[in-house]
Formats: sequence, C-alpha cells, structure tokens
Amino acid sequence: MATTHPHLPDWLAAYNPAEITIGVIASHSSLQILHGARQEGFRTLGICVGKDRKKMYKAFPGAEPDEWMILDNYLELLNKAEELRKRNVIIIPHGSLVEYLSPANFITLEVPTFGNRQILKWEGSRELQRQWLESGGCTMPKVIEDPHEINGPVIIKYAGAKGGRGYFIARNFRDFRRNVDLEEEFTIQEYVLGTRYYFQFFFDPIAEDGYQVEGMGSREGQNCGRLELMSIDRRDEANVDEFYKLGSLRDIRDMGLEPSFVVTGNTPAVLRESLLPEAFRLGEGAVAASLELEEDARGMIGPFCLETLVTDKLEFRVFEISARIVAGSNVAIGGSPYSNINEPGLSTGQRIARCIRKAIDKDCLSDILS
Ligand code: ADP
Repeated sequence: MATTHPHLPDWLAAYNPAEITIGVIASHSSLQILHGARQEGFRTLGICVGKDRKKMYKAFPGAEPDEWMILDNYLELLNKAEELRKRNVIIIPHGSLVEYLSPANFITLEVPTFGNRQILKWEGSRELQRQWLESGGCTMPKVIEDPHEINGPVIIKYAGAKGGRGYFIARNFRDFRRNVDLEEEFTIQEYVLGTRYYFQFFFDPIAEDGYQVEGMGSREGQNCGRLELMSIDRRDEANVDEFYKLGSLRDIRDMGLEPSFVVTGNTPAVLRESLLPEAFRLGEGAVAASLELEEDARGMIGPFCLETLVTDKLEFRVFEISARIVAGSNVAIGGSPYSNINEPGLSTGQRIARCIRKAIDKDCLSDILS
C-alpha cells in the first residue's frame, strides 16, 4: 500500500507555494474550510454540481470562494485533476466528497489531498475499524453475531456511513426480524445507554510541542505529533431525540412508528472536565494505533472524530471513528469553548489551513498530503 499517491512529489514539485488554492466541495463543512483557508491567506475554490449551490455562499461573504468549478456530476472531478493541479489546488476532503466520488474513486483522485486517504480503508470497514480502535485501547460496544442471541437492546446498523439512515433498535429476535432489511449488509451492536459525545480532534504530525501522542509498537516511547481537541458536539437525530414525547417505545410502535437516527444538525457540548483526560487517552490511542496499522502507513493526519457514549458509570464506549473533518465541527465555525482557550475563534477549518501553511513554510507538504 502506497502511503501517498505515487505522483504526489511530482505534482508538488510543479506547484507554486505562493499560489496554493484550497479546494472543497461546496457542502458538509465547506463554510468553515473556506473561511479558515481565507483567514490563513489562501485563495479558495468551491466545487459543485449545477449553478444553484453558489447562491447560498453569497449569504456568507467571509466564506465565499474566490473561484468556482461547476461540474455536471461529481465523478467529472476525476477528469478535472490536471486542471486542478494547474490551479495549484489542494483538496480538503470531507464526508460528502468521499460519498459523492465513492471511497475507491476518491483514492485515485490525482490531486494533492489533505490528510491520509489510505486510512479510509480502515475507517470504511466496521471490522477493520474495530481492530484499529481496540488496539488503541478504546472499548467498543459488543457485537452480536447471531440475531437469535439478541437479549437486551441492540442497534442494527447498515454498511457505510448513511447518517444513521435505516438504523433501528431491537430488544429481541422478533423486533429484529420485523424491521431488518436482509438485502443490506448489517451489524448488530449492543445498544449502550449513556450520553453521546462526538470529539473533534486534530492530529498535527509536524508539530513538536503541546500534547504529544506517544507512539506504540515500533514507535514505543517516541513523540509522534500534537493532539488537539477542537470541539465537542452531539448530533441531533430525527426522530430518536424527540420520540419519548409520544410515550414509551411500545406506544410509539402502536402508532406504527419506529425510532430513527437521521442526522439533521448538531449541538455544541462540553464534557465533565474530570473525563477529559480519558477522552485524550482515547484520542491518543486511536492516533498511536493508526501509525502501526500497516508497515509503511502514515496513519491519521489532521482532523478526526471519535464518536462515544459515556455511561452512568462514567465509562466511555467508542462506537465509531471518522478519519477526516466531520460536519459536527460546524458547531465551532467561530471556535469552541476548548479551541478558544488556545486561540479565539479557531475552527477545524482554519486549523487545517494553518497546518498547510506551516508545512509550506517548513517545506514538508508531502508529510501532510496524500
Ligand atoms: P453513521 O456513521 O452511519 O452515522 P453511527 O454508527 O454513528 O452511524 O450511529 C448513528 C447513531 O446511532 C449515533 O449517532 C447514535 O445516536 C446511535 N448509536 C450508534 N451506535 C450506538 C450504540 N452502540 N448504542 C447506542 N446508540 C448508538
């Protein structure tokens, strides 16, 4: 597995560092990425399908792209690589880009991209993700292999990040059978009752100060880079967040309804402060383990999100990692209670641009791109 695109050094050799343009698909977390890029002095490029998307950015002049690339469909982006490189573009990937292109196509995109695209292989498979996170010391909800063995609340999840669409809760095999779509690949996970916290971390492998991630395995005892907590959010999910207002699960089902987990937005959160060291231990473990996933792998670079539940015993369960900027970081477009301590107003979008700016200054762009 190549850790960077084999042509990355050639592409970067042809780039003019003074002309670097931050490119992003106009969706997901693009407002903060574009705003942050501008704050760090970069030119910006918005990419979208059809002209309609552009209008919304008129409402946010602080984030409006300097240039636009309008496509007929997102796959066309793959053919625009040469043009994007001529425009000195670095793409900031987010969930919508990966979904629109498909992970397999995204990996082949011939444009320098922030972060390590190869980590998507580990993020995209629930089994590999579990291997990764557990080796980093994260405790995950149990998996139930045989639906007949459901005896207590479980959540059934379908393959691929779908923003929770189609997920459902079952208490026993009957519930499971009634709701499951057997055509789809699914996982049955113990339903952990607790409070949800989604931690937006940033790992900067080229920073030598701050909270350093201590390596494990082949990097035991080494300082590997700086871990920062940018913000914490909680997703707003329709309709599970509100259905209790209609009564019990049984009442809801009598009305022919099922709780669902479709993300509609996000709310900022802060964590009980005595739990923060544990949150950092989990973030640090996830990064340290990512560096050991494959022999020549560079692991996690830049923003990532640990999705967790904290039980009433104050124990964390990590149910997912997103190895890129997540839309939940939008709660902190203007900074979060945590990032503001270090620098007022710092968003994950600006932090990404800052990392690119530092790498240009240190002449080590290939350390943070792929
Ligand atoms: P996706 O990545 O497709 O959005 P997630 O794995 O993040 O899906 O799950 C979607 C939602 O389901 C979460 O935000 C959370 O509310 C709920 N959830 C997921 N796993 C569990 C679990 N093991 N126990 C309780 N709730 C869960």
